[in-house]
Amino acid sequence: MKETDPTGRIDGKTRLLGLIGNPVEHTLSPDIHNTLARLCGLNLVYVPFPVESGKLGDAVRGAWALQVLGLNITVPYKQEVTAFLHSQDPLAAAVGSVNTLVREADGYKGYNTDMSGLLRAMAEDGVSLEKENVILLGAGGVGRAIAFLCAMKGAAHVWLLNRNEKRAQEVALEVNRTVGRNCVTAGNLEQWRELPKGSYLAIQATSVGLYPDVTRAVIEDSAFYGLLHTGYDLIYRPGRTRFMALCEQAGARAFNGLRMLVYQGVEAFELWNRTAVTREQAGQIYRMLSEKLTENGK
Ligand code: NAP
Repeated sequence: MKETDPTGRIDGKTRLLGLIGNPVEHTLSPDIHNTLARLCGLNLVYVPFPVESGKLGDAVRGAWALQVLGLNITVPYKQEVTAFLHSQDPLAAAVGSVNTLVREADGYKGYNTDMSGLLRAMAEDGVSLEKENVILLGAGGVGRAIAFLCAMKGAAHVWLLNRNEKRAQEVALEVNRTVGRNCVTAGNLEQWRELPKGSYLAIQATSVGLYPDVTRAVIEDSAFYGLLHTGYDLIYRPGRTRFMALCEQAGARAFNGLRMLVYQGVEAFELWNRTAVTREQAGQIYRMLSEKLTENGK
């Protein structure tokens, strides 16, 4: 792609990227992609598109007709959008959830860069899933995808604990059937008390503790945190959640979800532009978002 005008002017060759979801007003994705475009010298603009219920197909077809280069998809459309794609990346197809659409010759191809971004973020934070005993808290959209990711990336075992135990049971059944081994065991949020003795990586994939509900953690009992060597919270608002504080008080390492947010964006940007974002550029995005969230007091 041709270098952007140094004044940042939109011209006849500007390509469009965007985010489809509802709501989209509080997204940080325009900050990520418009800054990456500038850092990489690409003539792109990224904008949010709020899409009403029942209009997703129209939105994707319209984007295709308008030559939109790529789209992110957010809540509530990550599953529904799969019906409007021409193909899917194997990881996205396995987890049944797509957050990135890449324009190809015959239509949009779906990817799940939440998952590839999480892996890249974890690698940078020195956290691996391989051979790990994982306690996964939450079986919602992202929790479900992470259960697949853990199973596919060689975790030793996953204890999937969710308030709605039935939901966790369904995910466990589906993952175990797909990967052909019994690597996920489901339970409710009290069943950490029954886990085998060991040292666990906990991934916090519930919405408990998310701004403005900052004083709560999904499990409050400090004995739970004594089981962990690392706690990985997917929440990044606030930057230090109560879950992270409880991990650190028990001597475990703790991380928030900001690096995952950055790398899901970086991975999408790389797919759209067939380019590589350097670690330094990703670091610039991370610092920019960190400052923005701190300024906003979140
Ligand atoms: P979701 O589908 O709405 O799932 C919400 C999850 O939270 C479910 O497991 C739900 O349990 C649980 N939960 C909600 N309220 C609860 C409560 N009061 N007590 C116990 N559990 C409760 O949401 P999602 O899309 O999977 O997102 C999950 C989290 O990941 C959110 O905090 C989101 O901000 C974060 N996230 C971060 C990134 C990133 O880039 N860092 C990307 C995506 C998502 P039930 O099944 O029992 O309702």
